[in-house]
Amino acid sequence: PMEAFTVVRKSFDARKLLKEPQFVYIVDMDIKALLNLEPRSWDFIYKLEPKVGAIEYMPSKKVQLDLINILHNIENIQTRAKHENHESKINMNSFYKFAISKKPTVVVVGSGPSGLFTSLVLSELGADVTLIERGQPVEQRGRDIGALIIRRALEPESNFCFGEGGAGTWSDGKLVTRIGRNNDNVQAVMKTLVRFGAPSKILLDGKPHLGTDRLIKILRNFREHLMGLGVNIKFGTRLDDLIVQNKQITGITVSNARDKSCSNCQSMLCDAVVLAVGHSARDVYQMLLQHNVDMVPKNFSVGLRIEHPQELINKIQYSAFASEVQLGRGKVPVADYHVVEYARDGSKVVNSCLEDQSRSCYSFCMCPGGQVVLTSTNPEEICINGMSFSRRSSRWANAALVVTVSSNDFDSFSDGPLCGVEFQRYYERKAALMGGGNFVVPAQTVADFVDGKLSLTSLPQSSYRLGVRPSNLHELLPAHITKTLQHSIAIFDEELRGFISNDALLHGVETRTSSPVRILRNAETYESISLRGLFPTGEGAGYAGGIISAAVDGMLCGFALAKNLNLVKGDV
Ligand code: FAD
Repeated sequence: PMEAFTVVRKSFDARKLLKEPQFVYIVDMDIKALLNLEPRSWDFIYKLEPKVGAIEYMPSKKVQLDLINILHNIENIQTRAKHENHESKINMNSFYKFAISKKPTVVVVGSGPSGLFTSLVLSELGADVTLIERGQPVEQRGRDIGALIIRRALEPESNFCFGEGGAGTWSDGKLVTRIGRNNDNVQAVMKTLVRFGAPSKILLDGKPHLGTDRLIKILRNFREHLMGLGVNIKFGTRLDDLIVQNKQITGITVSNARDKSCSNCQSMLCDAVVLAVGHSARDVYQMLLQHNVDMVPKNFSVGLRIEHPQELINKIQYSAFASEVQLGRGKVPVADYHVVEYARDGSKVVNSCLEDQSRSCYSFCMCPGGQVVLTSTNPEEICINGMSFSRRSSRWANAALVVTVSSNDFDSFSDGPLCGVEFQRYYERKAALMGGGNFVVPAQTVADFVDGKLSLTSLPQSSYRLGVRPSNLHELLPAHITKTLQHSIAIFDEELRGFISNDALLHGVETRTSSPVRILRNAETYESISLRGLFPTGEGAGYAGGIISAAVDGMLCGFALAKNLNLVKGDV
């Protein structure tokens, strides 16, 4: 009966209300096709008492296991069939009617998810695209990151933030997004990733995940495809300035990113500039300020990165079932968690109408089976994040624990729209001083942080490769943020028993959860409201947070710009 079923979503559900964790499949069932089959072959469906169109929870363990096996098979067969028939490929051209008139020139700055997708759309629609990237292609970038981890040599232009694929390359590659999983734009991005080598199960998984190793392969294919479309990709090339005449961009100046003397500066003339530079390009924000480009401060979150032994998280989440998890090898995924608490500067919100004055403290960017990594681009600053490989097989589980901050928290740090950047910089420098230099990260056990003391001189092991130093992390961030973190961690421990532990380590500091700035643009045309020819997109512009939403924003920016350049006629 396999052809009568299509798996549309597969998730692993480990909520406490269930007796034991289980796979949940949402399955489309073709009743007509079933009726054409021998009744014997669809007997099992009666046992399941399915809802028409979808089977959600399975009634007994035996039937559940049968169905899981059958569904695994259906999934495999369909995946293979789709792959062989190339049905999973999407052709963006076929979605949009367009007529090519001339070849306008566009420079896309930044090869993160947003810049890559803008380049893809524009080149498919007939623009003459040059993609510039200050960092290196993934092959050289891998060597630069290796030098950082092994020799403590930070290459300011090629690191965990800068280089091909942007900040999302040496990442966990989680593809979850808050902008709506079934949204057509998200689906278009996901299918494009499959076209470039992502496994097709990302289209089904409830929590799709790639991991750094797969991302590198996908990016190589993406690069080749763009080059095949005629995109001129220039790595090691940094945008330094905009050339502006009568409030209209006419070009940019760029230089060799590794050449500090700027002896290599050159200009590039173009009809439009897409700014997809991410939120760590602080020099670009500064340059925009000099051109009076309209920007406003934006809320973001700051906090610490928490790390537990993965085994402990498996035990907390799966109880007795935890032994089924074989790191990176079993069918049962390594456990993750998501926690959130609304608090008012350290105390619990008792009345929901106070929520607008409250802060939320939440876990973010959880990397099960991952490692803590350094995402600084300047040796005097420490900021961290998490990454993993596709198998998520490390012994640790890390996640950011962050608290929302708004301009009330940071407008005293500088006048103007970059006050949030200054706030980030201040705490990144403080963290570097606490760590004692050489990229050593200040750390404290969760138990000590909650109690506001430093009792242990030797810390439990951390996955962070450049070393941790016992520190009073409860003195790092502003007191009201620390209190909110302490209060929320205590609440999380009620939900996830064992969350507070001497084996759990907090690392400082996590500051770059999203952009602290928004570059104002027209909602329809995506053009800057103050400078014609400038198209800010992605996370750095303040319109996305995460790989998928940045890619979607880049794609939509590409379509909006194509319309502006008369590459497409009618609605896109
Ligand atoms: P970016 O990816 O930041 O790309 C900007 C690019 O512009 C960079 O390559 C940079 O080098 C380039 N650039 C900057 N300035 C210039 C200039 N002057 N000239 C030329 N080029 C320039 N998100 C998820 O959804 N899932 C995850 O699992 C996840 N894990 C993460 C792990 C880590 C370690 C980090 C740092 C981030 C992670 N994120 C994750 C966030 C995600 O990477 C970003 O949201 C996303 O990459 C933003 O895309 P973007 O294209 O807007 O910007």
